[in-house]
Amino acid sequence: MKPSLFNQTPDELSAVLSDLGEPSYRGEQILDWLWRKRTSSIDEMSNLPARLRDQLKASFSLQSLSPTRAQGSSDSTRKFLFRLHDGRYVETVLIPASPALFGERSDRRTLCVSSQVGCAFGCKFCASGLDGFTRNLSADEIAGQVLLAEELSKEKVNNIVFMGMGEPLANMTQLLRALDLITAPWGLGIGARHITVSTSGLVPQIRKLADHPQQIRLAISLHGASDEVRSQIMPINQRWPVSKLFEVLKYWATRKAQKITLEYILIDGLNADASQAHLLARRAQSLNAKVNLIPYNTVEGLLWKRPSEDACSAFRDVLTEYGVPATLRLEKGHDIDAACGQLRLKEEESAKGLQA
Ligand code: SF4
Repeated sequence: MKPSLFNQTPDELSAVLSDLGEPSYRGEQILDWLWRKRTSSIDEMSNLPARLRDQLKASFSLQSLSPTRAQGSSDSTRKFLFRLHDGRYVETVLIPASPALFGERSDRRTLCVSSQVGCAFGCKFCASGLDGFTRNLSADEIAGQVLLAEELSKEKVNNIVFMGMGEPLANMTQLLRALDLITAPWGLGIGARHITVSTSGLVPQIRKLADHPQQIRLAISLHGASDEVRSQIMPINQRWPVSKLFEVLKYWATRKAQKITLEYILIDGLNADASQAHLLARRAQSLNAKVNLIPYNTVEGLLWKRPSEDACSAFRDVLTEYGVPATLRLEKGHDIDAACGQLRLKEEESAKGLQA
């Protein structure tokens, strides 16, 4: 498989062109074809000499991923299943103008992207880990989800959340490169403040990202306010317990302007009682963080239940008493920020079925 031209930074492109004896302005022309004109063929790059187009074709490809199927209408959440060059699949979800995403009303479109095929972290509420980890996505496969979603939906994506399949901080090298492709003025040009990286809590990587100059947002899959509860849901808590996690989150808060979001799936009989609510409220208060409460959605094969609406509201009210901004969505179906990968498993099976 040839590397994708979409994975080249301007410096890398300059080096390639210099080796070929081409002037450096060709790099700007190529980037313009890729990211502005969104060309799907090197042959279309009509202002490049034919010789250079042939040389580029010999060394690079353009296609990182291809659409397989889309679900949903233009005024609802749309789910895309994309096929990678090696026959694997990733899911990307386009969320239309959102009534209350992360506690803020918004008329902007948000794309939930995947960062890995499968996941090694095995969070108990999540289907992504059921098949285990397969591989990291490359930066162009990550940014390519945005390009394809915009092409298929004919809409501009304004916000990006790394909440699809995979743990983005376990794919740090490609994540950082993807952030460059996504934010660069010559790339997708989406501001860092419109990008949220969601993690299960990889402490050293959170510190590294905190020191990264871009002002990206951070969301933490918390789901338990004490070690005893969180460890039952998030195996990573054995490695990085709540105290270590909050230590690094306090460091993050000194480095970035935006509030951290704590994601918390409410599960009946496990983490939705008053003592967890008070502990979560104190922890969120200490970080000046906001909390996104997500009533658990039933996953086939898992035994947990969602609490009653009254219990969910009571949990939210405790946070509000402490002055912690908290959102609670009681309607069903909006499972994307909680249960990454659920849909992919079902659709991958059915896509395989369709192809068979
Ligand atoms: S929640 Fe995220 S880190 Fe946890 S298993 Fe799912 S994809 Fe992996």
